[in-house]
Amino acid sequence: MSSSRENIKKMAELLKSGATMLSTICPKCNSPLFKLRSGEIVCPNCGARVFLVKDESESSEVMVRAAIERLERTASQKLVSIGSELRSSETIEGLDRLIKWLDALERIERIKKHLGSRRSE
Ligand SMILES: [Zn+2]
Repeated sequence: MSSSRENIKKMAELLKSGATMLSTICPKCNSPLFKLRSGEIVCPNCGARVFLVKDESESSEVMVRAAIERLERTASQKLVSIGSELRSSETIEGLDRLIKWLDALERIERIKKHLGSRRSE
């Protein structure tokens, strides 16, 4: 373990190289973490490379967002095709499918709103 003076010197060097000090602390030694210009997060005290849970949840959120957007496209395509089916049909066959897809779209909208509000926090 390095002395606190060396630690401060390392921190100063990191800041000079363009790194930013984070409000998050190192899980190993409780020293403040630094984000390098490369995006890597390191601890100047013990040298640990840290992968913040926040980043992981952000990347999974991006994946969810992409999946939801794909679903939304699928749902609107289904609505269009079932809608034209219904127009040319004499019966109401397909109406329950239409309602199910409308339901799905409504849920998709809700999830999108939820993701959006989390982003603006
Ligand atoms: Zn550390």
